Amino acid sequence: MKTRQSRAKFKRAQLVIPGGVNSPVRAFRSVGGDPLFIKQANGAMLEDVDGNTFLDYVLSWGPMILGHAHAKVVKAVISATKRGTSYGAPCAGEVELAELIVKTVPSIEQVRLVNSGTEAVMSAIRLARAYTKRDTILKFDGCYHGHADHLLVKAGSGVATLGIPDSPGVPESFARHTLTAPYNDIKTTEKLIHKHAKDLGAIIVEPVAGNMGVVPPIDEFLPWLRMITQKYDILLIFDEVITGFRVHVGGAQALYKVLPDLTCLGKIIGGGLPIGAYGGRKDLMQMIAPAGPVYQAGTLSGNPVAVAAGLETVRHLKKPGVYKELEKNSKELAEGIGEAAKYAKIPYYQTRVGSMLGGFFTEGPVIDYAGAKKSDTARYAKFFHGMLNHGIYLAPSQFEAMLLSTAHTNRHIRQTIAAAHAVFPTLR
Ligand SMILES: *Cc1c(COP(=O)(O)O)cnc(C)c1O
Repeated sequence: MKTRQSRAKFKRAQLVIPGGVNSPVRAFRSVGGDPLFIKQANGAMLEDVDGNTFLDYVLSWGPMILGHAHAKVVKAVISATKRGTSYGAPCAGEVELAELIVKTVPSIEQVRLVNSGTEAVMSAIRLARAYTKRDTILKFDGCYHGHADHLLVKAGSGVATLGIPDSPGVPESFARHTLTAPYNDIKTTEKLIHKHAKDLGAIIVEPVAGNMGVVPPIDEFLPWLRMITQKYDILLIFDEVITGFRVHVGGAQALYKVLPDLTCLGKIIGGGLPIGAYGGRKDLMQMIAPAGPVYQAGTLSGNPVAVAAGLETVRHLKKPGVYKELEKNSKELAEGIGEAAKYAKIPYYQTRVGSMLGGFFTEGPVIDYAGAKKSDTARYAKFFHGMLNHGIYLAPSQFEAMLLSTAHTNRHIRQTIAAAHAVFPTLR
């Protein structure tokens, strides 16, 4: 594989951008090697600056569920752009997108648009704290909720504990307001809730974890979270930045039929342009300025171009049969990859919810971050590079999801399975 152009660009990038990238995982640090610079993308395909082409299973980490440069999305973006790229005043498109979200996501009665998933989560937490008048929040180890200070916290050595910041620059006094528990661990969570009931305002969770690889909730987990939070008047926040419009048109809350108080969205609802959103019960959302006292604002929020791309994407997703087809292809792909691993006698524990696929190089089962971390990441790195050499672009980290788009055809699926059959035997 030729990489001369990518390597040259990466060298230049490192002089002016920290680590040469604008978001850390892109740098290939956990799989080794240099990142590929992308020249263009279309449908399920990526082309890099050296002319290599790849079948893309990263999809910009989620947004491109219709594939790249989808004709209708491109048309909507061009048409919106010609009418001006930002007004800083209300426009019809943002109302249409809000209406579509309210109609589609079961628990959302009102929604505020922002510019990223991080911003959505930050704002939802501020609202939850304001509403409950309690400062402490609880998150689950291995769940990622963007890079806001109070959420860059994990549990120390797999034991539920008071927060320790994951990054320098996060004050311990912030992190102290964040409790963590292992994902899917009802017992530990219950203990923490009992102990901190007086100052615990919100529990935030990825209803399907997608940032430690893919870890689905065990059957009781989400219904139990709903029950216990109601009992203690704690707000339940679903971070559906990945799962929203991904695992079901109504998100994980529609799939599992558990309704949170607040929901965070991002990724897909912008059709590949920067966006985020948070929404929920009307009485809560009415606390947001200017309706209420909780301040939250954004110069580019409700941006007409992002909203146009999001609208076109969501409208397409609401057509009948879209998720059925995604499910069929995802199932076939997961089964094919599983068979390839089995045939090569490589331990490979698979997880999947709709078009979110996971695979860990361990016997499993994987139900939390501690389990996910048992995966042989060196083997994943080898798998990643092997697949890349066969024209398959997977996430450059074990702890990310493999995602499908509606542009992935049956032929693409078969091509990917064939590559897996070629690569797994090399991992022995
Ligand atoms: C991607 C992601 C975020 C952060 O969104 P950004 O747009 O990158 O800020 C938050 N939560 C989850 C679950 C995500 O996957």
